[in-house]
Amino acid sequence: MHAVKTKKRINLSAVTAAALFVLLILAGLFSGRAGKENTDRPRQDELSADGGGEAAAEETKARVIDPDKPMVALTFDDGPCGEYSPLILDCLENNQAVATFFEIGCYVDQYPEIDRRAVELGCEIGSHSYYHKVLPGQSDEAIAEDQRLCREAFEKAISADPALIRPPQGSVVKSILNQYEQIFVGWSVDTQDWLYRDVDRTVNNVKQAGDLDGQVILMHSNYQESVQAAEILVPWLLEQGYQLVTVSELFQYHYGITPEKHYYYAYDYFISDGALMVS
Ligand SMILES: [Zn+2]
Repeated sequence: MHAVKTKKRINLSAVTAAALFVLLILAGLFSGRAGKENTDRPRQDELSADGGGEAAAEETKARVIDPDKPMVALTFDDGPCGEYSPLILDCLENNQAVATFFEIGCYVDQYPEIDRRAVELGCEIGSHSYYHKVLPGQSDEAIAEDQRLCREAFEKAISADPALIRPPQGSVVKSILNQYEQIFVGWSVDTQDWLYRDVDRTVNNVKQAGDLDGQVILMHSNYQESVQAAEILVPWLLEQGYQLVTVSELFQYHYGITPEKHYYYAYDYFISDGALMVS
């Protein structure tokens, strides 16, 4: 009996001590949390003002693409253009957006820093041949020489040989496709910016093209009207809920494929949402 009583007394004081201990810890936790809320957490109005720029800059570095949301690839041909390409890049940077630039090798040699900046912004650089000569009809030797010149120009500018090529005038035949290791990419929405050089017409050709999810829009780097159209279209596309992605990202995230060599991914492919391939 005596032993039991003693045991009970010990147990009671142990429980009391444990309860006190827990209470002290809880009190400490709550006061710590309250302190954190008062001092460490920035106010929401501060976030949207001063903190906004920094947060936005970090977002650009680590762009997140949601494969379940609509996406479209803006592409610009015939650059880099010393006068207008930097303005297109400014527009993309200001909107935290990216595009794919199909560049002419001889201009890449002239303005390597433009493509270097494009890559830094997360844009993709594709080839558009070295001299912008139509590929069909060229000899095997001429094609090989064009490839060599392009490889040198792109390696020098961006330390990489582009994975994608867009043939000049979108023109290619099977025998030429077979001579390239690169993926041939055309477009599905032609803004005709180069033809009319008319800002409204270029903008409307995109706005009236219907559902743009999975589509590739063709524009050009070397016209002032194309820059002005891009300045309207980039924010408009984002407002419509489209993610602006590179062509390679479009293949990966929208179509879920690794594109194959010796095919031409062009109008039929994109307009059929990947159902039709033309080789
Ligand atoms: Zn071109």
